[in-house]
Amino acid sequence: MNKTKIALVTGGSRGLGKDMALKLAKKGLDVIITFNSNKIEADKVVTEIETLGRKAHALQLDASDYNQYEPFFKERLAQALRFKFEDKKVDYLVNNAGFGIHKSFQDTTVDDFNDMVHIHLMAPFFITQNALHYMNDGGGIVNISSGLTRFSTPGYAAYATMKGAVETLSKYQAVELGSRKLRVNTLAPGAIETDFGGGAVRDNKDLNQMLANLTALGRVGLPDDIGGVVAFLCSDEAKWINGQRIEVSGGVNL
Ligand code: NDP
Repeated sequence: MNKTKIALVTGGSRGLGKDMALKLAKKGLDVIITFNSNKIEADKVVTEIETLGRKAHALQLDASDYNQYEPFFKERLAQALRFKFEDKKVDYLVNNAGFGIHKSFQDTTVDDFNDMVHIHLMAPFFITQNALHYMNDGGGIVNISSGLTRFSTPGYAAYATMKGAVETLSKYQAVELGSRKLRVNTLAPGAIETDFGGGAVRDNKDLNQMLANLTALGRVGLPDDIGGVVAFLCSDEAKWINGQRIEVSGGVNL
């Protein structure tokens, strides 16, 4: 009998990460999510997953603080695996947690840039490095990027620079982790209606329509458009997909 696989999704309390966690559970995986401050929403995701008949657990982690990574894995994740998941290791890691800034290149400060480096680049780099000790061979990693690496939209210089670096990182990880049969792919969503950026894509009707007009399928994305693709990448159906950037945007700016 196949053993139940476990996925760890950073930033699984809301938005895209929540949909990823639910779709992974629907595909038969147990799921551990992290959240930063929103324990109530994280606990709701855990309950929803348990209702689907899968195991789930939520752990706090400020992904922008690299000092937390080692204790997070050594203490909290290891303990959760021991007590709730029969001492298994994780099979898949989804580096999703993040927030954005919208500032012109000219106005971006060193502090803004540092915020973006920590959450969007150091996190996927060093969280993955720490996670490797708690991962089975033969699974995989999905790093979340953005459509903004393929085309340039004013206001996203610092954010998109980090996401571009993440895409490069994914290829290097794929090459170096191939010996452990870990597949590493990048998923690049287009604009999606979430709380991201103050919920602008969802709540600003003019922006929403403008982005819909740039999209071949004529609308912006919803979280439901994304999670299933992550769940697919975290399955054996995707066992020969490695080192790829997969854009999930409905065809924006083609
Ligand atoms: P949301 O704002 O809806 O959700 C963000 C998630 O990340 C929450 O679970 C939040 O936890 C967590 N998070 C935020 N900051 C931190 C932190 N410092 N440490 C740990 N966790 C944190 O964003 P989205 O779901 O839209 O974005 C998810 C990912 O998708 C990001 O990497 C983003 O860059 C990317 N993306 C989003 C697009 C979009 O249009 N929405 C487009 C392309 C890429 P908590 O609930 O505790 O705050």
